[in-house]
Amino acid sequence: MLRANKKNVIIKVMETIIKKIDKNQIDENIIREAGEILREGGLVAFPTETVYGLGANALDEEAARKTYAAKGRPSDNPLIVHIADFDDLDEITMNVPPETEALAQRFWPGPLTMIFEKSRLVPYGTTGGLETVAVRMPSDPIAKELILAAGGYVSAPSANTSGRPSPTTAEHVWEDLNGKIEMIIDGGSVDIGLESTIVDMTVTPPMILRPGAITADMLEEVIGVVSVDETILGSESNQPPKAPGMKYRHYAPKAKLTIVQGSLKEEVFAIRQLAYEKARQGKTIGIIGTDETVEFYTHGLIKNIGSRENEKTIARNLYRILREFDEEDVSEIYSESFAIQGIGNAIMNRLEKAAGHCRIPASVITKEQKYRRIVFVSNTDTCRGPVAAQILKKQNLEQEYWIDSKGMVVLFPEPVNQKAEAIMKSNQMSLEGYTSRKLTQRDLNPDTLVLTMGMNQKEKILAEYEHSEEAYTDNVYTLNEFVGDNLEIPDPYGQPLTAYGECYEKITLLIEKLAKILNSFTKGGQ
Ligand code: AMP
Ligand code: MG
Repeated sequence: MLRANKKNVIIKVMETIIKKIDKNQIDENIIREAGEILREGGLVAFPTETVYGLGANALDEEAARKTYAAKGRPSDNPLIVHIADFDDLDEITMNVPPETEALAQRFWPGPLTMIFEKSRLVPYGTTGGLETVAVRMPSDPIAKELILAAGGYVSAPSANTSGRPSPTTAEHVWEDLNGKIEMIIDGGSVDIGLESTIVDMTVTPPMILRPGAITADMLEEVIGVVSVDETILGSESNQPPKAPGMKYRHYAPKAKLTIVQGSLKEEVFAIRQLAYEKARQGKTIGIIGTDETVEFYTHGLIKNIGSRENEKTIARNLYRILREFDEEDVSEIYSESFAIQGIGNAIMNRLEKAAGHCRIPASVITKEQKYRRIVFVSNTDTCRGPVAAQILKKQNLEQEYWIDSKGMVVLFPEPVNQKAEAIMKSNQMSLEGYTSRKLTQRDLNPDTLVLTMGMNQKEKILAEYEHSEEAYTDNVYTLNEFVGDNLEIPDPYGQPLTAYGECYEKITLLIEKLAKILNSFTKGGQ
């Protein structure tokens, strides 16, 4: 196809064909067509179990050059050669160490790449000028068939534009490479979602250059001690990484990504606070949360990356989520962190690279905060408490608080009193859908400010919990005591609507004072 660019110079644009294949019923005609393209020196993107690969004939120097051009990848960054038959390894390598067979038996086909001395058959174009070659045998049946159809040796870096997150669907490949390659084989979403583990077999003991789904422990079970390239995690090392590709800022989303580190609870509080501050400036931050935490975020654009109970889901979703954020108008992205064990090691490695190693301890953000949660306590949690909580939420607070209300006597959940709701409505607020809840000792914490409507609730709380080991009662005040006012808030229950109106006015006055006091804490007044 011919197309004019901005300067009206006619340039050649390639037509990229997309073909869908069902893994369980592979269409041999498509495989034959794709194999033919590869044999003739063209480029075909295809699914593997790790990420989508950009396939080319690995023994053809010119095809390697095209691969680098299509990806915009620096040509000193070598390609991995994919094979479909263990016996083919001999042809492209030399001095293969004895441990190789055991590793291949256990992990091939699968997400393990091994580096060996290369034979003369492999051009320097494929190895980025190195005397070594990286080899993998993928388990995806489409990949296997395609490699065989192409002649046995297919170089396949991830099928993305260099620097973008690796593709885990055919749509991602299309976004990056449409018009630059001959064909995309669409085999649906990939299984693992992170690139293979790379192990250098030319050194003793073998060394992991890139973490992946096959962990150090899994390798050691088969061949004993392995070492790990110390540049893999963290920014502390001055050494260049041993896999040339690991030195590039990879996998990066457009918005700046920061990893927040601490206990999970601290991380959530810190990200909540960051999201809240930005929202006050009219900005939206992106948040990478998990099944376990997403419900706790109230501001920002929140994406659920998966379950901490099943880190495979997190690995599978990471690149998709980073790509999705590129389409969103977010000023920055903050992510929770993940345990560095099992596949978590590979997840954190990719996340760190996407973040350009930018991390902050959660405690830096949360340490100024004396109170994180404010709970208003009334008798039944059907009127004054929920009203106070709702009014406080509408105040201009400089810090994010978890604002709540509880009752002293709640036998079963009840909706808010109808007269209270009528007053709220006339003030453009509503408590529709709210149901009352009982105060428990879990509400009495060092980070929670407990404000009762009157003296009798405070006295009851102290009488019940003051001597309990698990309850913290130093933060229990009456609302008027805390704001330094002697205005009482009588319970309007059973009285006419006007009494509810007066009650609302009184609560509003006290809450406005409360907001000022809370804001003075953030300014360093505490
Ligand atoms: P990708 O194909 O996008 O998964 O990237 C391939 C990765 O393998 C890059 O990080 C390369 O630097 C690394 N790699 C490939 N061949 C070698 C080799 N011979 N020695 C060290 N690293 C290699
Ligand atoms: Mg890549």
